[in-house]
Amino acid sequence: MKKILGLLVVVALFSCKETKKETVETVVKEVTKPEVKLYTFDGGTIMVNNLELFSQDTTYHGKTKEFADAFYVIKHPDGNLIWDAGLPEGLVGMPEPFTSPDGNFTVSRKDSVVNQLKSIGMTIGDFKYIALSHTHFDHSGHANTFKEATWLVQEAEYDFITSEEAQKTHADLYNAIKELTNVKKLKGDFDVFGDSTVVIKSMPGHTPGHQVLYLDLAEHGPLLLTGDLYHTYENREHKRVPVFNTDVAQTLKSMEDFEAFAKEKNAKVYLQHQKEDFNKMPKTPEFLN
Ligand SMILES: [Zn+2]
Repeated sequence: MKKILGLLVVVALFSCKETKKETVETVVKEVTKPEVKLYTFDGGTIMVNNLELFSQDTTYHGKTKEFADAFYVIKHPDGNLIWDAGLPEGLVGMPEPFTSPDGNFTVSRKDSVVNQLKSIGMTIGDFKYIALSHTHFDHSGHANTFKEATWLVQEAEYDFITSEEAQKTHADLYNAIKELTNVKKLKGDFDVFGDSTVVIKSMPGHTPGHQVLYLDLAEHGPLLLTGDLYHTYENREHKRVPVFNTDVAQTLKSMEDFEAFAKEKNAKVYLQHQKEDFNKMPKTPEFLN
């Protein structure tokens, strides 16, 4: 546990006709904040061969872009959380990157989560919780590995991905999470450890139960991991919505809520697919705290 001295200075000024009086009151409060560490991992790389998918209009026609695919470990004194799960581990060791049958994406992943966790001396048994921003294939890659952990998932996402229809039409997406049977269904925001340092924020629209992660780190300060609310800086700036989002209006509302919350908390925002943001993060075993 780390003790931080918070200094609250209340300055009250009084004045009247006869006398000018100035009162300065200083209150020193000791605030105890648990030490939370954020580790960033490489969950693979996505070459987007058809960037036009990432806007409702033709802005990105003919363009391509390379995306990072990060996942994160959050260490908290009361337990550990893994946030997102990278690309499928079947890609590890493939001689060539894999291109989807529709040609839209070319993906690769260098290493498995079990190996990657070794760099920080952790094993899969060390995790109390797993949470995915949403259940697309590039965020659920090694999810089933954490079947002993409790899956923190929005009820809307759970119902969407486990429905009979999804099991038929999105079998790969369903299969990627089907071994997660310790489920805690969320209905909105969730303060994971009850001390406001690690908070899941419901931000639907990309998928029915899409969510983002807020962390209040002792030294770095508040930050937000965006999931797929925004894939790129440009989409954040212009509030562009990918064509494959489940609900455009809901996405725009989530973007509005997100920006208001980020402003209120003065939080730094990290876009999980933006390579520059991925590169800003310390490489393991280094971490943010
Ligand atoms: Zn997605």
